Amino acid sequence: MKFGTKVIHAGVRPDPSTGAIMTPIYQTSTYVQEAPGVHKGYEYARTQNPTRTVLEENLAALENGTDAICFSSGLAAMDSILKLLNPGDEVISTDDLYGGSYRLMTKVFGKYGIKFTFAGIGDIKKLESLITQKTKMIWVETPTNPMLNVIDIKAVCDAVKDKGIFVCVDNTFASPFLQNPLDLGADLVVHSATKYLGGHSDVIHGAVITKNKDLAAQLRFLQNAVGAVPGPQDCFLVLRGIKTLHLRVERACQNAEKIARYLAEHPKVAKVYYPGFPNHPGHEVAKKQMRMFGAMVSFDLHGNSEENARKVLSGTHLFSLAESLGGVESLIGHPASMTHGSIPREERLKVGLTDSLIRLSVGIEDVDDLIADLAAALDKV
Ligand SMILES: *Cc1c(COP(=O)(O)O)cnc(C)c1O
Repeated sequence: MKFGTKVIHAGVRPDPSTGAIMTPIYQTSTYVQEAPGVHKGYEYARTQNPTRTVLEENLAALENGTDAICFSSGLAAMDSILKLLNPGDEVISTDDLYGGSYRLMTKVFGKYGIKFTFAGIGDIKKLESLITQKTKMIWVETPTNPMLNVIDIKAVCDAVKDKGIFVCVDNTFASPFLQNPLDLGADLVVHSATKYLGGHSDVIHGAVITKNKDLAAQLRFLQNAVGAVPGPQDCFLVLRGIKTLHLRVERACQNAEKIARYLAEHPKVAKVYYPGFPNHPGHEVAKKQMRMFGAMVSFDLHGNSEENARKVLSGTHLFSLAESLGGVESLIGHPASMTHGSIPREERLKVGLTDSLIRLSVGIEDVDDLIADLAAALDKV
């Protein structure tokens, strides 16, 4: 099946009791057994739920995996992945990680004796120099948030092959429509389905996908043992959102490209971060591992002035000032005070995350209106 068919059909079948074409929301906590242990595969809804089963099969197909395990949020999915590790283990990750992921690693798992190193691992020599006997996992985000650096997933996987190190890719920014890390050698893919997969800014949800049966079994154990499971209505919303994933992401990417070009020409804009530009350092890798260049665009104003950034941030009307990304509506954000507020200022300045950096999540509105909205806001600077 091709991608545009999988989003609609993979894992989905008519409801066996009624023939309903839409997967029902099985709003139940438990399932009646005919005799002790005699049942249809469902015993208790923390362990399994039919709405969740369909979504898990669908997500596994979208990422070319065998198993998907759903969680109540992207961070809950990450939490279970990090629980695969033991005290003393080491993780190497990118240095402009999503703020919530950075916080989970440093503030929560740090105190259980897991060591995290954050570095520019797009440089494979640098990555290799950081690997020790204790390294158990490489955590990759690409394109990165909010600097939109691109990391060569295959090169990272090749560098740690046969070393007993897992590669986990947070594929939230790209979505499975643009990029499939398991095909490039990754062991685990994690999504905040809150973003492109759900796509309508109406649900918090997360998932892990793998084709490693052993890791899948460990994650299923954790899903049930720890219990951060999504409700059936949330699973339904993600499943419904996914049906238009390919159409939404394609349009959003087309809009983002036009907006990036517009901003690059604007006199008040100092720099545009967009992997679709041939002079972007990750352009060639993006061309190789992504189907399009994504719908996230970051840009900086001249002079590192938070005050000027604030004028733009409160000057748009179609771009709503809000955390999150990946919905049908366009959002504008200020990483330094919003998504990346938990990262120390010196750390973020080192990677170019200035006080005046602005991040756009480009939606699927008419692009002419979006550009006019940005133009009016930039006039206020
Ligand atoms: C939002 C996000 C997360 C966290 O997901 P939640 O669903 O909000 O818990 C993780 N990684 C990235 C890249 C994100 O954008």
